[in-house]
Amino acid sequence: MTSARSRARLIERLRGLGIADERVLEAMGRVQRHQFVDEAMTSRAYDDTALPIGYGQTISQPYIVAQMTQLLLVDGVPANVLEIGTGSGYQGAVLAELIANVYTVERVEALYERVRRRFAALGYRNIRARLAREGVLGLPDYGPFEAILVTAGAESLPTSLYEQMADGARLIVPVGASGDQRLMVVRREGSHFHQDTLDPVSFVPLIEQRGRTD
Ligand code: SAH
Repeated sequence: MTSARSRARLIERLRGLGIADERVLEAMGRVQRHQFVDEAMTSRAYDDTALPIGYGQTISQPYIVAQMTQLLLVDGVPANVLEIGTGSGYQGAVLAELIANVYTVERVEALYERVRRRFAALGYRNIRARLAREGVLGLPDYGPFEAILVTAGAESLPTSLYEQMADGARLIVPVGASGDQRLMVVRREGSHFHQDTLDPVSFVPLIEQRGRTD
């Protein structure tokens, strides 16, 4: 169940669903998703579904991880990327296979602590994980970023992140009320921010209120 063969089957499924970027398929073929879920879930780790990771959060569906990663690479491989919503760390690990400098922020302390241990155990040295209550404020000390990936659903476009986008950068973010979310891509060109609305998606909510705790 946790073998290279189940991973290869998942990759074939992603290819069948239209994921054509070989860099993404290869990266996802290398990352062992079963290392990012609880032991009780490992038998389902290579199903193409989201799975619970505790604290009301989920590890994203592989197809969505592939799609979002593919969208980030359209104009070439960015030098750095900021992920908002570390969760299990799986998406971050996929990014780290492709991008030299990965920054990822999480607001739930227990998830953050677990993921730091996980990244260390798996030997990822190019991922910097941070605990941040307000991920939508980004990481001003480390930006600007050539790519920003939000892996939780925002009610409206998190324009607070625009100033941390380098010229030419892409922001990928699920936007909309629960049940009516769509993937959006924002591309910066100088002082212009071009928006595209893509497929419907279903993410756990991005918590945007200041000072709110779990
Ligand atoms: N990318 C993850 C899935 C993320 S689920 C993976 O590959 O497993 C969404 C995550 O976003 C949850 O862990 C949630 O706690 C986190 N989150 C929600 N709002 C946030 C915010 N404002 N700042 C940082 N993290 C946030």
